Amino acid sequence: MTQTIRLYDTDPYGRTFTGTILEASLRKDKKQGLLADLVLDRTLFFPEEGGQTPDRGTLAGLPVADVQIREGVITHTVSGPEEALARLLPGTQAEGILDFDRRFSNMQNHSGEHILSGLIHSMYGFENVGFRLSDNTVTLDFGGHLDPDQLKDLEQKANEVVYRNLEIRAEYPDPEVLKDLSYRSKMEIDGPVRIVTIPGVDACACCAPHVRRTGEIGVIRILKAVRERLSTRLTILCGRRALLLMQAQLDQIEAVSHLTSRGQEEIAEGVRHLLEENENARYRIGALERKIVEMRVMGIPREQVNVFLAEEDMGNLAQRNFVNALTGQHPGYCGVFVGNDTDGYRYIIGSAFRDCRTISGLLRQELGARGGGKPEMVQGSVAGSWEEILRVLAAQL
Ligand SMILES: [Zn+2]
Repeated sequence: MTQTIRLYDTDPYGRTFTGTILEASLRKDKKQGLLADLVLDRTLFFPEEGGQTPDRGTLAGLPVADVQIREGVITHTVSGPEEALARLLPGTQAEGILDFDRRFSNMQNHSGEHILSGLIHSMYGFENVGFRLSDNTVTLDFGGHLDPDQLKDLEQKANEVVYRNLEIRAEYPDPEVLKDLSYRSKMEIDGPVRIVTIPGVDACACCAPHVRRTGEIGVIRILKAVRERLSTRLTILCGRRALLLMQAQLDQIEAVSHLTSRGQEEIAEGVRHLLEENENARYRIGALERKIVEMRVMGIPREQVNVFLAEEDMGNLAQRNFVNALTGQHPGYCGVFVGNDTDGYRYIIGSAFRDCRTISGLLRQELGARGGGKPEMVQGSVAGSWEEILRVLAAQL
């Protein structure tokens, strides 16, 4: 089969085209329903290639679900009702309309990636070892490590290239010229090699559409750098997508600024202050709970064998300390139930001499309680009123 004419190669800004259908076949997909795979003589749709997801849009008025390339032949997959798909016969013409906003965003991000990878290569000698451009993320991998200051510097230099508004050229050099040319992703490829050049910044073998000038990228942001053993994965965003992200981030900053009553430039200080206050409050609550436990324990007659108490509100640690303090003074079962009749209680029961699992078993059997533990201590939760719980416990004691 003859290779598809790639209109996007020479006309990356084209939005519509008309091509002749050379091949059409229908198939059923479990998820997407009825689909038609179409090969045209030409196309503006960039297929899934080189880590980039395929273009979207419509072909013959039907949504394009996928675009794949194999040995230079590009296949478009469209979905739609059977009668519409059946009309797509070889020999007929079909109009393609590109989702150009999405394509332009892809061009901004792909060109931005070339600038970063080119600079990483010229400044540090690291090769690009991976690239992924989808609707959700843009990542690039390079074979080395950079520290945060180097990454900040890289981001600044990449944006300087944007400000200089350099022309981005895509061309197929003669094999003789190509042989002596220095460019990234150089490997033995049969047939013509497309070289994308940003003068003085990068030259790379690449099949994807790019913006005409670096200024159209708008902005290049490095969002995240994850160190692998031998490489680093950068998550980046360029252009419109970077702007949308920054707007969303600014909304978050504004919300935190409002909550902390601090100016945007000092929200970290505001949050730090709140955390400190929270830590102090926790410390004071802990001290108060210890005091309450002490007083409550003192108030119970020493000769009492079993002790069961309900507390409306108490932290886990205090509840445990409470039970420990009680078992030190009373030989029977000592249980502290925290909660109320509506929401139920979480309990801890301890004993120095008896098997507490008897009690948790009883609560489970009579009240559907959850939980368990060791002979010396059980814990769990139980629904029911305090009165009911006491009645169940009293029957056992
Ligand atoms: Zn590329």
